Amino acid sequence: MTVAVPKETHAGETRTALVPEHVAKLVALGAKIEVESGLGLSCGHSDMDYTRAGAAVRTDRAAMLAAADVILQVRKPTLDEVSALREGAVLIALLDPFQSPELIRALASRSVSAISMEMVPRSTRAQKMDVLSSQASLAGYAAVIVAAGQSGKIFPMMMTPAGTIKPVKVFIIGAGVAGLQAIATAKRLGAKVEAFDTRPVVEEQVKSLGAKFVKIDVGETGQTEGGYAKALTDDQLKLQREGMSRICAESDIVITTAQVFGRRAPVLLTSEMLDAMKPGSVVVDLAVESGGNVEGVVADQIIERKGVKIVGIASLPGRVPVHASQMYSSNVTALLTEFWDKETQALKLNLDDDILKSCVVTHDGRIVNDKIATAT
Ligand code: NAD
Repeated sequence: MTVAVPKETHAGETRTALVPEHVAKLVALGAKIEVESGLGLSCGHSDMDYTRAGAAVRTDRAAMLAAADVILQVRKPTLDEVSALREGAVLIALLDPFQSPELIRALASRSVSAISMEMVPRSTRAQKMDVLSSQASLAGYAAVIVAAGQSGKIFPMMMTPAGTIKPVKVFIIGAGVAGLQAIATAKRLGAKVEAFDTRPVVEEQVKSLGAKFVKIDVGETGQTEGGYAKALTDDQLKLQREGMSRICAESDIVITTAQVFGRRAPVLLTSEMLDAMKPGSVVVDLAVESGGNVEGVVADQIIERKGVKIVGIASLPGRVPVHASQMYSSNVTALLTEFWDKETQALKLNLDDDILKSCVVTHDGRIVNDKIATAT
């Protein structure tokens, strides 16, 4: 079975779907690996590294993709690329399925079996394939580093003959995987950190990292069976914003990570709240790709508004492409290994399996995931 890995074409994407370390693992399973020349250059791997690991390096991208049994990518393909895939091929990528109805329909009509890595369930068995978690933890780390670079302040307290410098105040909104890593990173740099999340279970995790959990009573919240936040009502969001505005105004750095699975991110920082912040403060919005938590945020831009910098970076894991690629590659390799049939030395998609039931979105000419079918 041939597994092909093309270079990413999405503007600014620095990650790659497979690193040499995992090429060797897949070759050991009996897979034939082909990679497009230059695949790993943005994340620390030369063509020679891939060749040494057992891959064939190809320069004819179109021919490679047209013949492949399995295609691994980070970002979703274009519609043109889909029409060039072999019928019955398996495509594994971050397909952004809720925002890509046309693409999903095209994959189904091409009879491609498409695996959406975002749809891998958050179960214990699937943990090693969980790209949302691996990329989110890196995004949380990178958000703090970006904020530190934009701030005119240092993070730690410093006592010097020239006076005492107070630690910077960081407020993290949304303490899921990214938020918790942002808290840990900001603490390591010496900041005073506060955090808020609508899921009450998060309080203990926030405290265990040495940060203060901000309490805002917005009424009934809770989480879904999968551990995701439930969407708040408009009235609850209003209460939340009121509860957060004083903390935002006093903070030097605000990092927002609040997301509600499959929906637009809630707007949590209004223009009014931004106006109340101190000049020189920095806001980093990790939810920018799903609509943004901050009013007026623009993807891949730093906007300055009355001295407050609003940073919207669409792919923060792409800021640390070496480790982001390593982790993504490890996740897709775990998925391939889990569903690899040793006898036939091929990937076998049994749609009765819990993990595949959730992440295979198109198969045999149909959209097979009910949630995606409804959204498409
Ligand atoms: P996410 O990216 O969907 O959301 C980020 C955070 O935003 C969440 O903590 C959410 O509660 C929070 N949020 C939503 N609306 C908010 C609002 N209005 N104000 C403040 N915060 C708000 O979530 P995630 O980080 O991907 O993870 C969510 C959950 O999944 C967590 O409980 C995590 O522990 C769980 N999880 C489980 C597994 C597993 O069991 N294998 C793996 C990964 C994550």
